[in-house]
Amino acid sequence: MIVAIASGKGGTGKTTLAVNLAVALDEPVQLLDCDVEEPNVDLFLHATVMEREEVQAEVPEIDLNRCTCCGQCQDICQFNALAVLPETHVVLTFPELCHSCGGCFDVCPEGAVLPGKRLLGTLERGHRGKIRLIQGRLRVGEAMAPPLIRRVRGASSPGGMVLIDAPPGTSCPVITSLRDADFVCLVTEPTPFGLNDLELAVGAARKLGLPTGIVVNRSDMGDDRIRSYAEGEGIPLLLEIPFEREAAEAYARGEILAEVLPRWKDRMLDLAQSIRNRATND
Ligand code: SF4
Ligand code: SF4
Repeated sequence: MIVAIASGKGGTGKTTLAVNLAVALDEPVQLLDCDVEEPNVDLFLHATVMEREEVQAEVPEIDLNRCTCCGQCQDICQFNALAVLPETHVVLTFPELCHSCGGCFDVCPEGAVLPGKRLLGTLERGHRGKIRLIQGRLRVGEAMAPPLIRRVRGASSPGGMVLIDAPPGTSCPVITSLRDADFVCLVTEPTPFGLNDLELAVGAARKLGLPTGIVVNRSDMGDDRIRSYAEGEGIPLLLEIPFEREAAEAYARGEILAEVLPRWKDRMLDLAQSIRNRATND
């Protein structure tokens, strides 16, 4: 079963929830940190990272000895990653703009587009007890997160419980992270900004046809707008977590709440059961 933990914006407690769910469950868990621009699951988990591998994107390199400057590669590229200059018999490539769609490789009639590489980042695998951690780390300056996220998703083994810590927001990296999940757990807070971003996140999950449920963090520090929204949209409110000073202090010490506060473990187990029930009924 694949459960994605997502939120329309950062700072809602999404990663905390993902880590605590993974720790609380009495079964093997694969925990995927798909927030590749800023992976922080391991700040809490402290896994032993055993393997690191570089992830490359395939980008075009032009063999000017074969190239006739016909311009077809430039024409097909939707991302302006190629510029053909027939006057000087040069084809400029801009690897940072390339989305590795393969179009230019396919259309070149001369076989002059050769595969080159651009470093996207690293894929890391580790473990902590029954938890297998898989995380991506985007190279500083690299803008294309989805291919690395696909590698993180693809590195998990089928079967068992897979928890995905999705990036915040609703853009392409989030969609890539959520795709094919069995359930999306949306973490929010009861504020106007929280509701606005929740609505966007619900829209993204619905476009993918995925069942959703809501977890409200700091539920006693805002108003009733999330509850009203959830009722109106028919989205289950899975869990409301009030602010707790004891939990905030444990969090600040870098402790995992489900390990040090029994009520947090119980909460997470209840949440997991609720997700299982919803996912199998939807
Ligand atoms: S499609 Fe091939 S031959 Fe035509 S300009 Fe591009 S690289 Fe050169
Ligand atoms: S692989 Fe696709 S995105 Fe990259 S340069 Fe070729 S056509 Fe453009």
